[in-house]
Amino acid sequence: MVTTTAGFRHDSIPTARQVMNSLAASTGEFTVNATEDLSALSAETLGGYDVIMFALTSGELPLSAQQKSVLIDFVSSGHGFIGVHSATDTLYEWPDYGRLVGAYFKDHPWTQQGTVVVEDASHPASAGLGDRFSLLEEFYTFQENPRGRVQVLLRLDAASVGSTGDYPLAWVQAFGAGRAYYNALGHFSETWTDPRFQHQLTGAIRWTSGR
Ligand SMILES: [Zn+2]
Repeated sequence: MVTTTAGFRHDSIPTARQVMNSLAASTGEFTVNATEDLSALSAETLGGYDVIMFALTSGELPLSAQQKSVLIDFVSSGHGFIGVHSATDTLYEWPDYGRLVGAYFKDHPWTQQGTVVVEDASHPASAGLGDRFSLLEEFYTFQENPRGRVQVLLRLDAASVGSTGDYPLAWVQAFGAGRAYYNALGHFSETWTDPRFQHQLTGAIRWTSGR
């Protein structure tokens, strides 16, 4: 779990780290190591992991060319990637990362209560949520709509924020022999402590790790 920031830093980062450790303990299905030390992004270190998670990262993280190829090779050779919230506000100048996370952040026009539509109720990362759910969030839009390149799991009900249009909020894709998941929610600590969000993250870990 990488929470390094080179741009905006979310107040929810400590809660995000606590919640992932709690989920590891309560499910017993995985262990998590959270770090902001980018030197951990090496072939040797990643060799001990099934999934890498970029949670609330931001900006142009100072990764070397070798570290970039290690990350891409890690996922494409059959491991998992999870990006959360500002993971799409990260590494704009590295197109392979953009493909991995699925889109780049454009704007956050709505910070309010909104309704999220569950498009795929059978996927492990979006099952058990019902048809839709409502929460207070900072809802993202993206530079390009990823629909068509990814499998959309959640979208914003645009009418619930007084708008129109198609705004995917969570998606999955194959990445070589690996699996990539992204969820745009997670701005507030309250989102991380929300059981509905935790349920998605647990499902995402199961799915990206190929279980
Ligand atoms: Zn945010």
